[in-house]
Amino acid sequence: MDGAHTVGLDLGGTKILSAVVSPENKILARAKQATGAESNAKAVTSRIIETVRKSLEKLNLDARDLQGIGVAVPGTLERESGRVLETPNLGLEGYPLGPVLEEAFSVPVILANDVSAGVYGEYVAGAAQGYQHVVGFFVGTGIGGGIVLNGRLFGGPQGNAAELGHTIVQYGGALCSCGQRGCLESVASRTAIAKEVVALAGSGAAPTILARAGTDYKLVKSGILRDSVRAGEDRVTQVIERAADYLGVGMANAVNTLTPQMIILGGGLVEKLGDFYIQAAERSMRAHSMRSLRESVQVAAAGLGDDAVVIGASALVRESGRG
Ligand SMILES: [Zn+2]
Repeated sequence: MDGAHTVGLDLGGTKILSAVVSPENKILARAKQATGAESNAKAVTSRIIETVRKSLEKLNLDARDLQGIGVAVPGTLERESGRVLETPNLGLEGYPLGPVLEEAFSVPVILANDVSAGVYGEYVAGAAQGYQHVVGFFVGTGIGGGIVLNGRLFGGPQGNAAELGHTIVQYGGALCSCGQRGCLESVASRTAIAKEVVALAGSGAAPTILARAGTDYKLVKSGILRDSVRAGEDRVTQVIERAADYLGVGMANAVNTLTPQMIILGGGLVEKLGDFYIQAAERSMRAHSMRSLRESVQVAAAGLGDDAVVIGASALVRESGRG
């Protein structure tokens, strides 16, 4: 085997996914389990180790056969030391996850932000293949970003660059989870949309939302929004179009700053709403960016779904040169 394969691990708030990936970025085996309610560093770490081992067992591999393990973390990190800085609800703040896993598996372990890993996955094996300059926006409960420049993931000094959801698009606007106001995430995420449509549901303008989620915004999933649009609930469609407009402003800022050749849009909202939403965001991007820069940028939906993060995390082991 000569250390040819890598493992990509997606550490999510609800599930842990481990995949053994070939040098050609093909997933050879995978294992999955719930992250679990008991969220402290020790419990989460032992579940990570278990999930990696299960994926290796499917191929009769030992961790020593690997080139390394790439771990995608939902939050900020300190790449050099392998410490996690901030993650929601996992109890890993300040925890040296990288070194602990290196000790457990005796192979190099690198950490990456999960959305950055996903965008890198789309670059090596998905919708952004063949482009050297790529920006990705992943829209869900929040908005995450990733940047590939000159064919390499751009992470800044510690791997935390590309918080595109926290660029400010509405000065003095709605309060964001990060404490600022008017961030892209606070006006264009699924959460932002959900908060507006439950108000419509309460007033009788969105029967599909009312029937499936009541007036609790946390229950408004992307599929419910899609069904409301399909049912012709115009006020809901308008809220989504406005959110897509704002996403386009965030995209335009990225175009003017980085001149990507390709912008990838991913996440649950993009998957469920599809072309209608992507086209609205693209129109807005083209309306808000510099003419000479926007002409050379393309927009596409992410192509790998949940696999993007594990493929990207595993490919980053090779890119890091530590494998
Ligand atoms: Zn923010």
